[in-house]
Amino acid sequence: MNITSSVLHDGKVLQVRSFGVCFYVLKDIKGLYLVDGGFVGGMSRLKSALEIAGWSNEPILGVMLTHGHLDHVLNVAAIANSYGAWIAAPRGDQKFYDGQPIYSGISRVTGLFEALGRHVLGFRKFIPDRLLEDGDILDVWSGLKVVSLPGHTAGHCGFYCERTKLLFCGDLFASFGKFSHLPPHFFNYDSEQIVSSIEKALALELSGVFPNHCDKSTSTLHLERLKQFE
Ligand SMILES: [Zn+2]
Repeated sequence: MNITSSVLHDGKVLQVRSFGVCFYVLKDIKGLYLVDGGFVGGMSRLKSALEIAGWSNEPILGVMLTHGHLDHVLNVAAIANSYGAWIAAPRGDQKFYDGQPIYSGISRVTGLFEALGRHVLGFRKFIPDRLLEDGDILDVWSGLKVVSLPGHTAGHCGFYCERTKLLFCGDLFASFGKFSHLPPHFFNYDSEQIVSSIEKALALELSGVFPNHCDKSTSTLHLERLKQFE
């Protein structure tokens, strides 16, 4: 396995790393589903990660988004077009998909950088096939439940699997050993809401969590790190 991807969780989860952010590919008997779409270089890393995992011939059926930030959605339109995949994304972040997010207060700095990034990196707008709300169930990977975890953005959510007790937790926190941290204020819609979102996440029965900004630790270790922010 190369340094940009690793197959995890009994060969059912592929972690693809691209430029400071990672995203996930989930596999079930029908095909593959992405949790977020990566950032710069994400498309080529996805392709090579699928080849290395031996998953190249599996169809990519859908892309599920944890939130609308550019480092998670840059490649979504291209992935949906190239692979014919559906897009499911939180309703609360709808303006991001249209390339018109609204930032206020200190996070306006992030808004300016994102506007520049959309332009320079060639962001393409997209319309989700399904807008997600708290408690929705997605019929993939033997059932994923949408868990609304607002604060980082208004619509920010995670995807919870009852069977494995795993939570794909988006940018609820960043997991880098002793440098693990909550998302910086200037990235957030409302930092105070993150505290209750962490409580909500930890109230689930969990075996592990998979964040999008993390090192290569196990989901169990990421969960231990998240607990320190409760
Ligand atoms: Zn984010």
